[in-house]
Amino acid sequence: MRNPMFVFDERTTDLVLDYCRERLALDPVPLDYGGYATDFTGLLDGLIGQAANDPQDVLNLFTHSLATAVVSIDSPRFLSFIPAAPTKAALLFDMVVSCSSLNGTSWLLAAGVVAAENQALGVLRTLAGLPEEAGGTFVSGGSAANLSALLVARDTADVPPGTRPAVAVSAEAHSSVAKAIHILGCDALTVPTPDHRLTGDGLEAALEAAHGTVVAVVATGGTTNAGIVDDLAGVAAVARRRGIWFHVDAAYGGGALFSSSARSRFSGIEEADSVVIDPHKWLFAPYDCAALLYRHPALAKAVHTQDAAYLSAFRVAPRPPGRPPAGSAGGGEAPWNPTDYAYHLSRRSRGMPLWFSLAVHGTDAYRDAVDAALDTARAAAALVRAAPHLELVREPELSVVLFRRPGWQREDYDEWSARLLGDQVALVVPTVWEGEPVARLALLHPETTLDVIAEVLDSMA
Ligand SMILES: *Cc1c(COP(=O)(O)O)cnc(C)c1O
Repeated sequence: MRNPMFVFDERTTDLVLDYCRERLALDPVPLDYGGYATDFTGLLDGLIGQAANDPQDVLNLFTHSLATAVVSIDSPRFLSFIPAAPTKAALLFDMVVSCSSLNGTSWLLAAGVVAAENQALGVLRTLAGLPEEAGGTFVSGGSAANLSALLVARDTADVPPGTRPAVAVSAEAHSSVAKAIHILGCDALTVPTPDHRLTGDGLEAALEAAHGTVVAVVATGGTTNAGIVDDLAGVAAVARRRGIWFHVDAAYGGGALFSSSARSRFSGIEEADSVVIDPHKWLFAPYDCAALLYRHPALAKAVHTQDAAYLSAFRVAPRPPGRPPAGSAGGGEAPWNPTDYAYHLSRRSRGMPLWFSLAVHGTDAYRDAVDAALDTARAAAALVRAAPHLELVREPELSVVLFRRPGWQREDYDEWSARLLGDQVALVVPTVWEGEPVARLALLHPETTLDVIAEVLDSMA
């Protein structure tokens, strides 16, 4: 008898696809509630045992009890952390990636898929103004991308034996950068930032005063907390002159490269040795998807390639069955193995949902969707300025708006935030700015309307 796990089952297929269809059709996606329940043991106890369950019962448990304890990050009322707004086309194609078991590790196993992922990377490379030869891979997130890029920076630098390499960062760099520096056994050289922006002059002064070997500098293309873009051109110039690796973390802000109104803020990104952009943030792809691009991919390949006997076939250019090797040397090298450009080995072809959506919709639609959030952020800032009970912390550069309700303490913000979620108005959680609690709107969903923003602001009166 066949093992039922591997037999096509029409009923379960319909059940799951019907659920997906319903979820895709939600318009708008309701906000719902997150982690209020503290204990799911009663629900989950005994579910997984030796015997099978009816798929309908398990799916019902998910849809009625588990999925309802989720706050929907793709709701246009989700205005915290970094929201998500995956396109329908990208979500649908994510199912294709799963159902086809697409493994994007090597050219040998998935040449066509690798070519398509590289086409999507090429769109980002062109937006960033990186040279034609630039390339890389999609990894799980900005954190994995930062770590992979900084490993290349460290391993390709000249570090005198017995000295600990250092990476220059600003205090505003993402927490994953500090984590990567720690994992890599490097020191962080924290560069002071007047007005929260890393500048070339600031970097120069810090390098002048530094002891030890600084191997890289990390600039941020849109800080996550405030949407501030560092002085990329200034930092690039200093990095070039000093011969240190210039990494740009545009995990959140990189989507703004699509916008003609924001593109000039990123001037200098074209000088980067490595760039990170998270399509699962502002490029409307489903989780998990981060683009990692290197100016000189060969450097990354030399650092990241995994060497194992059973993988040696990845290195050789594949040829059609029955054909002799092309050229006299016996086939040459495989054109592109995505696995060689980060610390991973096996990888899902997670760039494909972005690729499909870009191809289906065209880049103008992406530009318009990015512009929508930028416009909403500017309009939200204007609403804050016009509200007598509120104070704008600073003009938004990208799509994050910080503002305060004078007189409020952290508890007031927390209470207000819980009330807004309870009333299903929005998810808006406070953040900290210069040691003080403030409200923060992270805008990204093109369908977040000014009416929603007005509701949020009015609720603070
Ligand atoms: C979100 C973010 C990261 C981390 O990305 P993940 O995809 O969450 O791992 C890194 N840097 C910046 C600037 C970010 O906004």
